[in-house]
Amino acid sequence: MTTLLEMSGVSVSFDGFKAINNLSFQIGEPELRAIIGPNGAGKTTFMDIITGKTRPDEGRVLFGEKSVSLLKMSESQIARAGVGRKFQKPTVFEAQTVRENLAMALANKRGPFDVLFYRKSKRGAERIEEIAELIGLTEELTRLSGELSHGQKQWLEIGMLLAQDPRLLLVDEPAAGMTPAEREKTTTMLVEAARKHAVVVVEHDMEFVRRLNCKVTVLNEGSVLAEGSLDHVTNNKEVIDVYLGR
Ligand code: ADP
Repeated sequence: MTTLLEMSGVSVSFDGFKAINNLSFQIGEPELRAIIGPNGAGKTTFMDIITGKTRPDEGRVLFGEKSVSLLKMSESQIARAGVGRKFQKPTVFEAQTVRENLAMALANKRGPFDVLFYRKSKRGAERIEEIAELIGLTEELTRLSGELSHGQKQWLEIGMLLAQDPRLLLVDEPAAGMTPAEREKTTTMLVEAARKHAVVVVEHDMEFVRRLNCKVTVLNEGSVLAEGSLDHVTNNKEVIDVYLGR
């Protein structure tokens, strides 16, 4: 596993309030990592910095084997370099079928005219089948996306991101609003995706984090409070104090 993203000494203030405070973070490729922390810990801002939505006041954010600085790139350049983000609310094209959504996502990587390629060619169809299998929607390929359950829409969106072959996938609270069976499937999907990609999952649900069975980073007041296995971090006195609000 080689380091894919390295953040060091990153700080961001909003009106004098330090939302991110001298944060250092690394993730390998491939790797699965869970980020936990109380409300206001800086989790969203952390992801916004990686995608280029928020620019830090200080620090470095380096990406890939050539250690290019993400801070010098626009949001779209960062996305093209291989950073994908899934927000909590799924955004799929509801009036299109699952297949069409995946075809569009695949074409997005190559160029707008390639949607025809993915609709018509054997290679395109194979790639769509592969992704549909990974996200458990093989049976739903011809259904309109608007008819899918909440969980299925979330999976479709994960599939659309994977179709674009990201190197780093940022996923915000994937288990929110899901049934236990859907959570289970989501776990399997993320673990599978993290065999090839770097996957960062921000999640409040500890049971879900436990199932991911990966290294956990605890953020608090914009810094890393603890890092390690879930058992390791949840036995840390400072982490317990933060969660119990002491
Ligand atoms: P989390 O996602 O862990 O709940 P956030 O990254 O959303 O935390 O927020 C970290 C802190 O920064 C919070 O105190 C929040 O109120 C503040 N903050 C985030 N974005 C802004 C902003 N655009 N303007 C002012 N304060 C902000």
